[in-house]
Amino acid sequence: MVRHTGRHFLQIPGPTNVPDRVLRAIDQPTIDHRGPEFAELAKRVIAGLKRVFGTKGGVAIFPASGTGAWEAALVNTLSPGDTVLAFETGHFATLWRALGLRLGLDIEFVPGDWRHGVPPGELERRLAADASHRIKAVMAVHNETSTGVASRIAELRSAIDRARHPALFLVDTISSLASLDYRHDEWGVDVAVGGSQKGLMLPPGLSFNAVSAKALAANKAAKLPRAYWEWQPMLAAADTGYFPFTPATNLLFGLDAAIAMLEEEGLDNVFARHERLAEATRRAVKGWDLEILCLDPAEYSSALTAVLVPAGHDADAVRKAALERFDLSLGTGLGKVAGKVFRIGHLGWFNELMLMGTLAGVEMALALAGVPHRKGGVAAAMDYLSGNRR
Ligand SMILES: *Cc1c(COP(=O)(O)O)cnc(C)c1O
Repeated sequence: MVRHTGRHFLQIPGPTNVPDRVLRAIDQPTIDHRGPEFAELAKRVIAGLKRVFGTKGGVAIFPASGTGAWEAALVNTLSPGDTVLAFETGHFATLWRALGLRLGLDIEFVPGDWRHGVPPGELERRLAADASHRIKAVMAVHNETSTGVASRIAELRSAIDRARHPALFLVDTISSLASLDYRHDEWGVDVAVGGSQKGLMLPPGLSFNAVSAKALAANKAAKLPRAYWEWQPMLAAADTGYFPFTPATNLLFGLDAAIAMLEEEGLDNVFARHERLAEATRRAVKGWDLEILCLDPAEYSSALTAVLVPAGHDADAVRKAALERFDLSLGTGLGKVAGKVFRIGHLGWFNELMLMGTLAGVEMALALAGVPHRKGGVAAAMDYLSGNRR
């Protein structure tokens, strides 16, 4: 077995690197979740999460991976057989749809090429054609973590409004929250789905729903069976500080610290940092003369970049070399792009030199794996980071 020294480079697009400060916050004695100290913590954390989501509405916290909050979003707002409109932007959109089908929803799935986000024009056309309002909800993944494509949520909202359609707008923000600009209330999203292990810099284990007033009204009429995932007692925790069942207390300690870090940096600065590191990454990819999976620069993701390897080469060979030789984990290709892309995560607790280490590891791994490329990607990224910034 190879022994590694120094820090492992966890540059998959989630789970992300957990800051030392968050690790220290988690490493505390567990407290009574029915006691006064916990209630203070819970209220503070929920209020902080509302600021991160950009909402004055409710936020529910479930001890689960992001998939749990996907399910909660659907069972709390919809009834068996309801029609939902969704778009095949990539692997996560496909998985969310599969979960909805298992719950007994009728999901109209618009095919996609995995290189674009949700098309606003197509969304508007389909909703405008639905005069009887058969479609009860629209599902969209904000940042498609399998492809590195970010859908334009504000534009999608405008498309729904132009079609004058009452469908609920459900958005997966698992890998965008606290990395890409996201504004729940301003963008008129009804249910946002979040997770702890991406931009929020925590270990896996917490998932979130941000809930609009319209979604809450839908909750009262929704007939899909739900027990554990019922919103009402969870949302009450914002006022009482007490959850209906045992919360993941120590992860909430970590979340408290993570929100403090994000707000000390300032969310706008957090987004700008992600944009800067993403742009440096794209310059490296172009420097290597390789192709970025995302085709539309308006949809480039600031959280990760998916890189295509030339036909006849195996993207996983690059990942294998990076891990074995340099202790660097890169994201694998998922679903339809398996073997064709590797993904560089540049989200969460991350900075310029961590990026340069990552890009150097990729450039060396490309050589070791025998993938044809030009040298100089790392140099192009350095030029960008050391030059005058916008
Ligand atoms: C990570 C991720 C998920 C899956 O979340 P789990 O925590 O693995 O359940 C869903 N959607 C997106 C966009 C993600 O990035």
